[in-house]
Amino acid sequence: MGERYQKLRRQFVVCMLFLVVGIAVVEVLFFFLVHRRETSWTTYSELYFWLPLLFNGGGWIALYFVLDSPNISDRWKNFATIFYLGFLCTTVSAVHFRQVPAVVGCYHAPVIWSAIYGDEKLSRWTHAISQIALAILCAFYSWLNGGMGNNEIGIVAIMFTLVISRLLATMLMRFVREKDEMIQLHEQDNESLGKRLMREPMTGLYNHSAFYSLLEKKIRERGDAPLSLAIVDIDNFKSVNDTYGHENGDKVILYLAELLKKHCGERFFPCRYGGEEFAVIFPGLKGKEARGVMEEILAEFRTKEFEWNSGSGITFSCGVFQHNEVNMTATELFQIADQMLYKAKQGGKNCCVSGL
Ligand code: GH3
Ligand code: MG
Ligand code: MG
Repeated sequence: MGERYQKLRRQFVVCMLFLVVGIAVVEVLFFFLVHRRETSWTTYSELYFWLPLLFNGGGWIALYFVLDSPNISDRWKNFATIFYLGFLCTTVSAVHFRQVPAVVGCYHAPVIWSAIYGDEKLSRWTHAISQIALAILCAFYSWLNGGMGNNEIGIVAIMFTLVISRLLATMLMRFVREKDEMIQLHEQDNESLGKRLMREPMTGLYNHSAFYSLLEKKIRERGDAPLSLAIVDIDNFKSVNDTYGHENGDKVILYLAELLKKHCGERFFPCRYGGEEFAVIFPGLKGKEARGVMEEILAEFRTKEFEWNSGSGITFSCGVFQHNEVNMTATELFQIADQMLYKAKQGGKNCCVSGL
C-alpha cells in the first residue's frame, strides 16, 4: 500500500510543477489578451505573476523536500500533497477573488483528491480546512472592499457544493475500500489455492509435482551448503493391506506422514510422491546426518502398535544420498537415492542405507 502511494505522490509532484508553470503562463496570457491596454506589465506582474509564482514555486520546493524526506511518515506525506493543493487554491483565489469570486470553486480539487488516500479522517479535515479558508477569504475581501459586492449567493453556493464534493469523496473512498478488500480476498484465495495445489490431500505432505520442483529449487539454492535426499518405501505393505484391509493400510500411511512432519519441522521437506512412497529433502544436512534423522523416525515407526495389528511392527526401508556434484540434476539425485533404497530392500528391509 505504502509503495502504491509513494508512486502516486511522485506523479503528483510532477503534475504540480506543470500546474505552477501553467498558472504563470495563463497569467501572462491574460495580461496580453485582456489587461494590456489598461495597465503596464510591471504593475500587473507584481500581484498576478511574481507573487503567485513565488508562493507556488516556494511551496512546491517545500513539498518536494517533504515527500523526499525519510523521516516523515506516509500519512503526513499524503496530507502534504492535499495541503499543497489547498495552498495553490488559496494563492489563486486570493489574487483573483476581486474580479472572479467563482475561482474559489477550485477548493473542490483538494476535497476530491483527499479521497484517493482512503483516509476518512484526512478527507474530513481537508473539507473543514477548505471551508475555513474560503470563509477567511470572504471575510478578508469584505474588510478590504467594505462588503461582498453581491457575491454572497455565489460563495454560499460554492460552500454548499463543497459539501457535495465531500459526500462524493466519502462514496469514492468506500467504493475503493470495498474493491481493495475484494482484491485482498482474491489474493488470499489464490495463495491458499497455490499452497493446496502443492499438497497431497490425504496426508497434507508435498505431492509428486511439488516434490520435484522443490528438489530442483533447493539444489539451485544450496550453494556450498550440503543437501541430502531420503527415499522411503513401507515394507511389505501389500500384505498389510491384504491382511488388515485398505482402511487400516491408510492409517499406517497417515501415521508415517505425521511422524515425518514431526521430525522435519520447518527445516526439512517431507513429500508423498507415490502411494506408500515418501521422500524427504534435507537442505543443509550431510548424507550421514540425514540418515540419522531417518533412523530416528524408523525407530519410532517400527515400535508403533496398531490395535488391529497382531503381527510384528510395521517397518520401512530408506535410501539416503547427498547431493555432491555441482551438475547433478534432481532426477539423478533421486535415481541414486532410489538405488540406495533398493539396497536397503535387498539387505532385508527395515533399515536405512546411505551412499558415500
Ligand atoms: P516392498 O517391501 O518390496 O515395498 O513390498 P510392498 O508390498 O510394500 O510392495 P510395494 O511397495 O510395491 O507395494 C505397494 C502397495 O501399496 C500396493 C498398494 O496396494 C499399496 N498402496 C499404495 N497406495 C496406497 C494407499 O494410498 N493406501 C493403501 N492402503 N495402500 C496403498
Ligand atoms: Mg512401493
Ligand atoms: Mg513397499
